[in-house]
Amino acid sequence: MGNNKYKVLIIEDDRNIASFVQTILETNGYQVLTAERCRQGLLVYSSHIPDLVVLDLGLPDLDGEVFIRQVRTSSMVPIIVLSARTEESDKVSALDLGANDYITKPFGTAELLARVRAALRTSRIQAAMPGSTFTVGDLLIDYDRRQVSIGGQPVHLTQTEYNILALLSQHTGKVMTYSAIIQAIWGTMDDGSIKKLQVNMANIRKKLGCRPGDNRYVTNELGVGYRMVDE
Ligand code: CA
Repeated sequence: MGNNKYKVLIIEDDRNIASFVQTILETNGYQVLTAERCRQGLLVYSSHIPDLVVLDLGLPDLDGEVFIRQVRTSSMVPIIVLSARTEESDKVSALDLGANDYITKPFGTAELLARVRAALRTSRIQAAMPGSTFTVGDLLIDYDRRQVSIGGQPVHLTQTEYNILALLSQHTGKVMTYSAIIQAIWGTMDDGSIKKLQVNMANIRKKLGCRPGDNRYVTNELGVGYRMVDE
């Protein structure tokens, strides 16, 4: 019974937050492991191999980014970063290092549980055989033909627009930062890159039939990047 529960490792030195997260997760059927320091977190990680990690960035011994860098050399375990508002730029670099998502403190029960479920779902999708198509709702991306359709109707994207959408779909559920997308699509980043990306994204949304504020397929993570939704 107990051993088919998802194991979540919480690495957080603030005991109030750690016990808040632990209580929510245990109440909802997750098994919880905790660590208060980065090095301890790495040890617990390698001895228990959890299904998900909730990671504070500001840890007393080492920066939480050390944890991400270390674990990403061998594992795609979903990592959700907890960040304070004063750590905005840290959040972006944590995502670029391979964190899947972030939650800004203070956060509520519903938000935490939604992020945890989404991150676990993403890791199950990635573990499945890579398919040659991607679907979410009525959107279909055919990677072999490089074609996008909605409800069977073709959507005519430029090469760049297609590349951006395909890239996001290959990281469904994960926030991709502006710089990660720009590096992948154009190779280099300059002053106009973010604007160029935003213009392309506006065109993609329009072609997908999304009005402003409609997050059906891609959500806009303000000031951070974009995320392809997974349901
Ligand atoms: Ca902290």
